[in-house]
Amino acid sequence: MKYRIGQGYDIHRLVSGRPLILGGVTVPFELGLEGHSDGDALIHAVIDAILGAAGCGDIGTYFPDTDDEWAGAPGEELLRRVLALSIGWRVVNVDVTVVAEAPKIAPHRETIRDNLASILGIDADAVGIKAKTNEGLDAVGEKRAIACFAVALLEQNDAEHDEWL
Ligand code: MG
Repeated sequence: MKYRIGQGYDIHRLVSGRPLILGGVTVPFELGLEGHSDGDALIHAVIDAILGAAGCGDIGTYFPDTDDEWAGAPGEELLRRVLALSIGWRVVNVDVTVVAEAPKIAPHRETIRDNLASILGIDADAVGIKAKTNEGLDAVGEKRAIACFAVALLEQNDAEHDEWL
């Protein structure tokens, strides 16, 4: 059995007039994440972790922010498209750290976890969602941005087709 691990990172600015979407879940807050897409930094980090594990570039390779097709695109849809690209690989687990001074992520952790598990087609216990603050330091600590780190493990489940489209 062949395994591959990948890591991903993303950061988006917090701005007014946008919904805050993390892991495909709308989190009530007065600010939201700016971006060409829906700004879902959590899912973007997970996508990069999966693409990194597959050795298939990064999120910008498939969804360039210069392409109008992806304007406002839900992270959830981008993740589903990335999963559809994989032939012969499946996600074993993902682990995510969300760094946000505000809002509190903990009350939404289970919802985000269940949603991500459902998109990835894995059990909820194979999805880790951890929340940290930045102790008031830097842009994240000043509530001007939210950053996310992710790792993903892929398992080859079909040796005949260990490639990506
Ligand atoms: Mg992003």
